[in-house]
Amino acid sequence: MELKDIKGVGPKRIKTLNEKGIFTCLDLLNKFPHKYLDFGEISGYEKVVGASLTTKAESINEAKSVFVKGHSYTIARFKDCTNGAEFNAIWFNQPFMKNNISEGEIYFLTGKINSKKQLVVTNYFSVEKLINKIIPVYSASLGISSAVMSKLVREILENATDFGTLKNEEILGISSLKDSYHEIHFPSSIERLENAKERVALEDLVLLASLEKDIAKSVVAKDWKYKEDSLEKFIQVCPYTLTTDQLNALTEIATKMDNRQSLNQLLLGDVGSGKTVVALGAIFKACYSGFQAALLCPTEILAKQHYETAKKVLENADGIKIGLLYSGLKETEKREILSQISTGELNVLITTHSVLSDKVNFKSLALVITDEQHRFGVGERAGLSLKGVNPDQLVMSATPIPRSLALVLFGGLGVSEINSRPFGESKIETNIVPMKKEAAMWQFIDKKLVETDGRCFVIASRIEDSAMESDIFSINDIKNKMLENGIQQSQIGIIHGKMEKAISDGVISDFREGKIKYLISTTVVEVGIDVKPANLMVVYNAERFGLASLHQLRGRIGRDGKSGYCFCLTDSSSDYSLSRLKVFKNNNNGIKIAEEDLKLRGSGTLYGTKQHGAKELFLNISFSLELYKKAQEIIDKLSVNELDELVKVAKQKYGDMFSKIVLN
Ligand code: ADP
Ligand code: MG
Repeated sequence: MELKDIKGVGPKRIKTLNEKGIFTCLDLLNKFPHKYLDFGEISGYEKVVGASLTTKAESINEAKSVFVKGHSYTIARFKDCTNGAEFNAIWFNQPFMKNNISEGEIYFLTGKINSKKQLVVTNYFSVEKLINKIIPVYSASLGISSAVMSKLVREILENATDFGTLKNEEILGISSLKDSYHEIHFPSSIERLENAKERVALEDLVLLASLEKDIAKSVVAKDWKYKEDSLEKFIQVCPYTLTTDQLNALTEIATKMDNRQSLNQLLLGDVGSGKTVVALGAIFKACYSGFQAALLCPTEILAKQHYETAKKVLENADGIKIGLLYSGLKETEKREILSQISTGELNVLITTHSVLSDKVNFKSLALVITDEQHRFGVGERAGLSLKGVNPDQLVMSATPIPRSLALVLFGGLGVSEINSRPFGESKIETNIVPMKKEAAMWQFIDKKLVETDGRCFVIASRIEDSAMESDIFSINDIKNKMLENGIQQSQIGIIHGKMEKAISDGVISDFREGKIKYLISTTVVEVGIDVKPANLMVVYNAERFGLASLHQLRGRIGRDGKSGYCFCLTDSSSDYSLSRLKVFKNNNNGIKIAEEDLKLRGSGTLYGTKQHGAKELFLNISFSLELYKKAQEIIDKLSVNELDELVKVAKQKYGDMFSKIVLN
C-alpha cells in the first residue's frame, strides 16, 4: 500500500507529507504520537489560576463566537461531571468552534485556567465519540492535525497487508507488528502501549542483529586452540572467590574463546562490579595455554594499578610473567620490555593504548583486552587487533553511554554482563549541597574521616583559575577553601593530567597508604582507580559534570562495601541541572542513570549527529540492551532462508551505514 492509496490523500497532501520525510505508509506509522492524553485520570474544575486541567464536563448552553478588535474567541458554559462546578471554556481564534460544541453533550477537556478563571482549551473530545480513553497527540511540526493523523493511520491499518519483515510472529513468540502499531496510535492502556513500542523497536533491532550475524560468518577463523581446563586452574590460583556474576561472565567469555571464530565481546558491568578479575581470568586462559595477552588502559595511572592487581592475582600461577609498558619508562627499560615481548618471555603486557600503537611486536598475541572502552574513540578500535592475527578481543565498559551502545549494535559485539557488585549494593549516600553549606560540610567530613580512618577525593572541574568564570573553582581555589576550613596542608595531595607522571604516582601511593587523606584532582581519577579505604567525595561545581562522569567518580569510593558520602556542591539554580543532580542522587545504577539522563535530554540527542544516521534510526526506539538480546534470540530461531531474506532487507536499509561504522 502506498500513500496515494490512502482514502482522502491527494497530491497536495502527499507533497506535505514528503516535506516531512514521510514517503511510505510505514514512514507514517512510524511517526508516533509525541504525547498522550490520559482521560482515565481526570480531576474536577477548580478556580486555581494557572492550573492545568483534564476533566469531563457537559456543555450547558449554546457556544457563542465573539469578535474583539480583530480577534475572535468562542465561549461555552460547562458543568463539570466530577464535582458539578460550572465554568466557562474558551477557544481563541477558532470561530468555527461554535459549531463543534453541542449543547447537552459531554466532553473531555484539557487546558489551563486563566486569570478570569476560564478554561482556555487546548484539547477537547466528545465522550460519546471517543472509543479509547487515551488520546494520541501528534507533534505540530508534522503539519497535519492530530485528528487527521489518526484518520490516515486508521486507513492504513485497516487496508494495508504488507507489514514488517518478520513472518510467523506467533511461532517467534512476539506480538504482531500490525497490532502493535494499532496500540501505539490507538492505545488501550499505557502498559500495552509500552510493550507495543518495544515490539516496533524490535523490528529494527532484528534487522541489525541479522547483519551482525551475517558479518560474524565472514570472520576468519583463528588457527590456535586454548587449553580447556584453564577455568578450573584459574579458580584455583585466584585469591578472590568469584561472585556468581563474575563466574558466569568469565565462563561465557572462556567458552567463546574456545570457538574457532575470534572472540569479539563486550564485558559490561557497573563501576565496582569487579570486571578486572574477569579480565585476568581470560588473560590467564591465554597465558596458561602458551600465548600472550595484552591489557590496554586509557590512563597510565590505571595501567600501573592493573599491573599491581595482575601480579597479585596471578602470583600463584607459576611461569606467567607480566610486563608494564608506559611512555614514562627509561629508554633502556622500554627496550628490555619490547625485546621480552617479541621473544615471548613476557606473557602479559599491561599498557596504554598510545604505547601499544608504537613498535611493539608480539610473539604470539592471542587476546587483547581494552579496559574502559568508552574512553577510546570509535576509530581507535580497529588498531587494537592489528598486533596479532585475529586475536580474541574483549572490551570492558562501565557505563552504557551512547557510544558503547552503538558499538554493541554496529561493531558486531556480543555482550556479557555483571549485574551485581562483590560487596552488594553501594552504601554511599549522595547529597546535593548549596555553597552556603560548604563550611558545615567540611566540618562533617573532617570528623568522619578521623572516625573511619578514611580517604576523601575532592574533584575540581578545572585545573587553573579563570578570570572569566569566577564561580568555577580551580584546584588552587579548592585547596585554599579547604585550608580555610581547617584542613591541614600536610594532609592534602593534588593530581591532575598536566602533572609530571612521577610526581602524580607518588601522590597516589601516598593517598593509598594514608600519608595524605585528601586528594584534590580533576577527572583523571574517574577511570578505574581503586583505593580501598576511600569513603568520601566532594565534587565542586557538580553541575558542570556529565551524569556518567559523576557516576564513575562516585564509583571510586566505598569499593570495599563500606558506607560513605558523596557531596555535590553547586550553586546552580537551573531546573535542568538540579533535576539531573537529583537523578544522580537517587540512583546508584549506571544503566538507570543513563536512561534517566536520556529521558531528561530527550531521545533526539541519543546518538548525536556523528553516528552516521543512527540518530534517525533510534528516534522512536527506547533502546535497551535487553531488547537487543531478544532480537539476537529471535535471529537464532530463524531458518537459513528466513535469515537470508532478512539480511537482504537489512542490507538494503542499513548496509551503507553499517559498513561505514564497522570499518571505522
Ligand atoms: P570495576 O568493574 O569497576 O573495574 P574492579 O575490578 O576494580 O571493578 O573491582 C572493584 C573492587 O572489588 C576492587 O577493589 C576489587 O579488588 C574488588 N573485587 C572484585 N572482585 C571481587 C571478589 N570476587 N571478591 C572480593 N572483592 C572483589
Ligand atoms: Mg575497572
